[in-house]
Formats: sequence, structure tokens, C-alpha cells
Amino acid sequence: MNAEILCVGTELLLGDVVNTNATEVARELASLGINVYHHEVVGDNPERLKESLENAFKHCDLVVLTGGLGPTYDDLTKETVAGYFNKKLVMDNEYLKVMEGFFERMGRPMTENNKKQAMMPEGCTVLENPNGTAPGCAIEENGKVAIMMPGPPREMRPMLLGPVHDYLTKSSDSILVSKVINFFGVGESALEDRLKDLMLSSTNPTVAPYAKTGECQLRVTAKAKTVEEGMELIAPAVKIIREAYPTEIYGEDFTELDDGCVKILSKNGHTLATAESCTGGLMASRIISNAGASAMFAGS
Ligand code: ATP
Ligand code: MG
Repeated sequence: MNAEILCVGTELLLGDVVNTNATEVARELASLGINVYHHEVVGDNPERLKESLENAFKHCDLVVLTGGLGPTYDDLTKETVAGYFNKKLVMDNEYLKVMEGFFERMGRPMTENNKKQAMMPEGCTVLENPNGTAPGCAIEENGKVAIMMPGPPREMRPMLLGPVHDYLTKSSDSILVSKVINFFGVGESALEDRLKDLMLSSTNPTVAPYAKTGECQLRVTAKAKTVEEGMELIAPAVKIIREAYPTEIYGEDFTELDDGCVKILSKNGHTLATAESCTGGLMASRIISNAGASAMFAGS
């Protein structure tokens, strides 16, 4: 299944808000084995949104949208997407009750424009929003799927990881499994030098280098039916990589050096203290930003 991520919001175009939703949706789709071909941002404008949707469905089966599901006049995503599929919006009385309950619990009156949020495209799958009033929804027709989620990340995230994940796993037949190999003291180009053949010839798994601040990583990614099958595909490539760099690899699946540091020292029952000059405590700050650091970090 090929996908496009389409984020709706003029604030994104103006640079007022960083498009973190695109990153989170992309990561989730990748983990489900869905190829993401394009990311797009469009303002709160129904004509341009419709045009973007038409373009997206020319090369993708799935379009995941975020933003514009709220109660105000500029929130037009549901109306526009429903229009694209020639669907009417109908009142979902069940969801209206859920919303009334939400406002009651918050101790706030429900204004008339909020009812708009319970108007759903006919025949859609409603996606629950435990952190807000605007539900998401999915429309599926002739092999084309549009999934709509609210813009605020604290509402979008649980919907993505819960109902959207469940919805997509039903229609996807493979997942992506990946392993990160962490290197220290070797640059990206030197990495490629010894592993070029592996990187160029591998298709499943693929092997890709990432240059981070202060370290390099290789990500080995396999497409498989199960995690076990994916791990089996990954293992031979990891063996070749480990043999090519017997001393420069400090671990696997660490986000960065400080994460590795905390996990390795904790595992071995060691503690750590830092002595820093002219850094404003930067090293200590990086260490303690990792989960579990307070148990192993003695001070600075
Ligand atoms: P609301 O009910 O809050 O209006 P909505 O679904 O209509 O929700 P928008 O009005 O498009 O969402 O956006 C609301 C806020 O959510 C934005 O002002 C912004 O702070 C945040 N937001 C929207 N889109 C994104 C995004 N792609 N990445 C990160 N934050 C976003
Ligand atoms: Mg809004």
C-alpha cells in the first residue's frame, strides 16, 4: 500500500507551527510496512485541499490527513474529503452523545458549532478521540482510503497509535522491522567505504547510513510478515556489518550515545559522574534526559 501524508493548516504554511504530525504519522506508517511517497502541507482552503487530494490519489491508495476537524468555520477537512468521495455529512447521534458527555465532564456548555464535529461522512469508520471532542474518521471506496485525524498532536497521537493503527493493520499484509547499529569514531563516508557492496546489493533488508551529531548509525530494515521473520532477514546483514567494524560499534538500537551510555552503565550496575567546563552542564543534561538516568547518574 502506498501513502501520502497531507497536513492541513495555514499555521503550518506560515511556519508558526512545526509539522510534527507528519513525522509521527510517517514513522507509524513505516512501522506498518506502508510506503510513504509524499508529504504535503496545504492551508485551510477547500479548493486547494481538494486539488491536493486529487493529486495524492493519482499515485497513492492511502491519504492520511491531519488538521481541520475542529468546530470552527475554517475547519473544512471532513467536508472537503467527503465531497471528494461524493458523500454527504450526516449527524452521528451516538457520537453527539459522547460529545455531550465530554462537555458535561469538563463543566462547560456545548456551543452550537460543536455539533458540527458529530457530522460524519456517510458510511465512514469513526475513530475515537479520547483527548478531545473532534473524532477522526476513515472513508474507503474503490481501494482508495482517506484517514482524517485532528491537528493538535496530543489528540492526533493516541488516535494514530490506537484506532488508526488497528484500522491499518487490518488492511496491511506486512510490517517493517528494523535494527539500528550505533558507531562511534567512524564517519559516514568511511562507513560506506567498507560496506558499499552490502548497501547497494541489499533490497530486503535495506541498509542505510545516518549521520547524527557525534556518531553514525546504520539502519537495517526488513519487510516481513512477522517480527520474527524480519529479525531472521536482518541477522545476516548485521553479522557482515559487525565483522567489517569489530571495534567501532558500541551497541544496537540506541537513539544516540547518551542513551547507550545510560543503558550500558545501568545494565552493568555502574554509576556515572561528569566534570564539565564551559558547557553549561550540557553533557549532564544529555545524560539525564534519558529514562532511567536518575538511578545511575551520581552528579556533575
Ligand atoms: P481544533 O479542534 O483544535 O481546531 P483541528 O483538527 O481543527 O483541531 P487545526 O485547527 O488544524 O486542528 O489545528 C489546531 C492546532 O493543532 C494548531 O494550531 C497547531 O498548534 C496544532 N497542529 C495542527 N496541525 C499540526 C501538525 N501537522 N503538526 C503539529 N501540530 C499541528
Ligand atoms: Mg481547528
